[in-house]
Amino acid sequence: MDDTIVAISTATGVSAINIIRLSGSKAIEIVDTVFDKDLKTKKSNTITYGHIVFNGEVIDEVLVSIFRAPKSYTTEDIVEINCHGGIAPTNKILETILMQGARLAEPGEFIKRAYLNGRVDLIEAESVQDLIYSKTEASRKMSINGVNGILSKLIKKLRNDILAIIANIEVNIDYPEYEDAIEITNEILKEKISVIKSNIINLIKESENGKIIKNGIEIGIIGRPNVGKSSLLNEILQENKAIVTDIEGTTRDIVEGSIILNGIELKFIDTAGIRNTKNLVEKIGVEKSKEIIEKSDLILMMFDNNKTLNEEEKQLIKETRDKKRIFIINKIDLKTNIDKNYFPKTSPLIEMTVKDYKYINTLKEEIINMFNLKELEISDYTYISNSRQIALLKECLIIVNTIQETNENGISVDLIEIDLKRLWDKLGEIIGESYKDELLDEIFSKFCLGK
Ligand code: GDP
Repeated sequence: MDDTIVAISTATGVSAINIIRLSGSKAIEIVDTVFDKDLKTKKSNTITYGHIVFNGEVIDEVLVSIFRAPKSYTTEDIVEINCHGGIAPTNKILETILMQGARLAEPGEFIKRAYLNGRVDLIEAESVQDLIYSKTEASRKMSINGVNGILSKLIKKLRNDILAIIANIEVNIDYPEYEDAIEITNEILKEKISVIKSNIINLIKESENGKIIKNGIEIGIIGRPNVGKSSLLNEILQENKAIVTDIEGTTRDIVEGSIILNGIELKFIDTAGIRNTKNLVEKIGVEKSKEIIEKSDLILMMFDNNKTLNEEEKQLIKETRDKKRIFIINKIDLKTNIDKNYFPKTSPLIEMTVKDYKYINTLKEEIINMFNLKELEISDYTYISNSRQIALLKECLIIVNTIQETNENGISVDLIEIDLKRLWDKLGEIIGESYKDELLDEIFSKFCLGK
């Protein structure tokens, strides 16, 4: 980590300005050799106007910012060169800097240094990435809470509570005569561990909200050909994305589109119908439908009011009983031939005609209720949403269950202490207090270049 790294931190392409960033002990010295002003004497957090000059040739007119260690993003010396945003000047400056001895940074290497130098923890680092990719206000709010350490605080508090129990048990063992410390009995441990468990369960439960905020809700629209799937999608998106025709099986390809509802992205996927067919193209579509049912968070199952239910539809109603779904009976402007009593009352049913927008609003209201989007909108956005973090929380829950079980069996608390330490360590992995190098490489390689 003692070498100096460099990368273009802005998106490549033509823009007003680009930023080339360096971090490391030689950052200032390297830029100083190709800058026509003296940088070495400049104070931290200052910007200097000048030119990048190489072999007597002016390469670009630039602004150079200096952030001296340790008060910088990586805690090392950082230099940022604001140059003109064309591809050629940016690349030429990068090339010049590389020739002066800097090394091209790997993806995520700047923030990895910030983490390794203790400037941010792992949740904060991962939230930076989420912030960059956030598409909605809600995901921005959630990510910035992560960046600002609000999530980390929740985990640190839990760890401190566990550490206090461990310390207390140790005192009981080492200084049995010390009367100021209460003795942790199985009974006391039971109470303490149940509080910790409910905190972990809450974090896991709430992570569902986090996932919705971060990834949106995937909604698959399925139904036999000509039932009105494409028309529904078009009405929702208010554009002609799906091809609507009277010929059965027109929507052979998957058509996608998304809208924002109560701050959450709804991603719709229209499928090619569920009809079993010998036609190869359509068969691929049928397979796709099944795949989409699998991966959707919600399925809109469309039926034709004018037609009786066929066997495949009945089969599908059975197969999807464990999924979140909304039944839609479309074309109520036509004569009713469908048997409405067939539909299980456990899932909501909307009768509509896509030709009237008021039903689209009814559908939106139903989705808002199903996913509690109104509550989400007024929440404080402190949710864990990262799958690595959620997986670790689930592992923590398994350890807590083991602790509860052994404690119930009356095993002496000083033996349970080992599992308490395991729990403390596992929670530490979430914020990156205990982590193996290979895993860190894996985590940070997902970051953008120059971050
Ligand atoms: P898909 O194959 O399920 O995607 O169905 P489409 O959206 O392509 O619609 C097939 C046909 O049904 C088109 O001619 C639509 O105009 C028509 N259609 C869709 N919704 C309604 C409706 O509510 N009432 C009536 N009468 N026709 C509809």
